Amino acid sequence: MHAEKAPRTELLALVRSLRERVTVDGELGRPLAFLAGTGGAEADGGTTEQADGVAASLTGTVFGATLSGLEGVRAALGDCRRCALHGTRRRLVFGEGNPAADLVFVGEAPGADEDAQGRPFVGRAGQLLTRIIEAMGMKREEVYICNILKCRPPGNRNPEPGEIAACEPILISQIEAIGPRVICALGTFAAHTLLKSEAPISVLRGRFHDYHGIPLMPTYHPAFLLRNPGAKKQVWTDVQMIMKRLQDGG
Ligand code: URA
Repeated sequence: MHAEKAPRTELLALVRSLRERVTVDGELGRPLAFLAGTGGAEADGGTTEQADGVAASLTGTVFGATLSGLEGVRAALGDCRRCALHGTRRRLVFGEGNPAADLVFVGEAPGADEDAQGRPFVGRAGQLLTRIIEAMGMKREEVYICNILKCRPPGNRNPEPGEIAACEPILISQIEAIGPRVICALGTFAAHTLLKSEAPISVLRGRFHDYHGIPLMPTYHPAFLLRNPGAKKQVWTDVQMIMKRLQDGG
């Protein structure tokens, strides 16, 4: 019996790692890049052990090929199981955009649409964020968009402190890898997590804060704007300050 099962188990493991690699390549905008890879039976980017080392090292390994920067962070994250959200997510939402972006937007956590597609900010709030980016004179692909949590909290409940603590090293590594000139924190959770502040977003927004040497502008979350369109005026003020900062070259 065992002799019959072993090849099947091996095949399932191979299919799983191949599926994971295709997913990662897709997220990194390198569809089918694995075909040109170094080959090998195991995708060792998918282990929890490696994910634990994400903040310490930006280098990940997939199919024996060493990756650095944002690709390394994604590879090291693999099929993350560092908190219970892995059990309820459909897709891990790593983030997307320009890996050398001047501007990084950080939201809260994937919602239902993002969970289904594996991409950040693709639902109604995401469409509004895309319009904000375009109003800033940029294209969505020019910036980088990600979240504090990479997996959807069930029923869109608020992120829990343990989940934030488990996921924050990934975000730190992403920001380190990208090296943006400005960060925009969207909403209370992003602002509180990044700034280690509990001040209301209404107090934090409207001025730059220092995030390890990077200017960080907190502003209202697009989902809040959908419910409170009157706040768009303040968000426009905030993003104009970001635009000026980027134009000034400061
Ligand atoms: N809200 C967020 O904070 N992030 C998303 O990706 C989508 C909605």
